[in-house]
Amino acid sequence: MTSINLHQGLSVLQPGKDLMIGLMPPAALVIEDAPDYLRHVLSAFSSPVREEDALATVEAHSGLPTSEAKQLLDELRGAGVLTAQWIDRQERYSRHRLYFGVAGHQGDPMDVLRNRSIGLIGTGGIGSNVAMILAAAGIGRLVVADADVVETTNLTRQFLYTEGDVGTPKVEALARRVRERNADVRVDIVNDTFDSPDFAVRHFADCDLVVLSADTPQDVHRWLNEASVRTGVPYSCAGYLDTMGIVGPLVVPGSTACLECDYANTSLAAFNGGNLEGTDFTEYNRAYQAPSYGPLNAMVSSVQANEALRFLLGLPTRSLGAKLLLDSMEYGVQPEPYERDEQCSACGEGARKPVPAGV
Ligand SMILES: [Zn+2]
Repeated sequence: MTSINLHQGLSVLQPGKDLMIGLMPPAALVIEDAPDYLRHVLSAFSSPVREEDALATVEAHSGLPTSEAKQLLDELRGAGVLTAQWIDRQERYSRHRLYFGVAGHQGDPMDVLRNRSIGLIGTGGIGSNVAMILAAAGIGRLVVADADVVETTNLTRQFLYTEGDVGTPKVEALARRVRERNADVRVDIVNDTFDSPDFAVRHFADCDLVVLSADTPQDVHRWLNEASVRTGVPYSCAGYLDTMGIVGPLVVPGSTACLECDYANTSLAAFNGGNLEGTDFTEYNRAYQAPSYGPLNAMVSSVQANEALRFLLGLPTRSLGAKLLLDSMEYGVQPEPYERDEQCSACGEGARKPVPAGV
């Protein structure tokens, strides 16, 4: 039996003459000087109405002739105000289903997410938090790679781990916590160091997306970029520098710029006139320790996890082909687009062609 109902994620209020459907753009509609009957029609669909009774319900609550009632019904369905999707409020993912509905996703998001795999290289302040958000959201599978153990200094920002985990390999503690959070999520662990493009091909070729949040060894970004171009698996980078968070670029090989396409325009390459080979990056502060802050890690993790979920669901992603700089003090977002280079040595003309996943 097909039934239709008012979208459960849309509030309907009439404060005065205007009818508000939804509370904030872009989901919200404001109908100025709305006719009185409209709120009664909408209210009648607060619980599911059988498809064959829908037109009669509109007629009964509006008093409109059949042709106009049908037009109203079609308009409300076309605008997504009336939907065929009824969500059980007691169901585990019901709030997320409602969110993705008002965010513009069509269909059941869980049908997609429970069948997707995400790889995480690095399970520190970003990777561990991204893992927990994705597990809570019901992702099907996580593949997590890290060779570190939990340290006391991690506990300010790696919220998944506890004092009792200190000394335990991060991937083992992560898998245990994810299982406690959501037993339906499969977690494959790689307790090893990312040391080459082959490492990424070996462990992540069957993922739908890889998130890189490790920053050592120095070449991790280039290695993952090479592996991504070889396997066709998209990836994103996430990190932070001083007080700024970084999310992206989300690289889809063959579609967006890859990391090598625009390397000459990145901030790192601006040093020494772009002559990277001849540039000395020796650190002269022998006491240097990168600052790392819980709220900034949480910001970056949330944005990265959101971009990953949106990407998997086919929703627009602002980090696609662009690096987003997140200001942890003023909350601004500054996008840095990457330009695709058709002659790119990694993904352009003459580069190695992608091979099927799993090879
Ligand atoms: Zn490229």
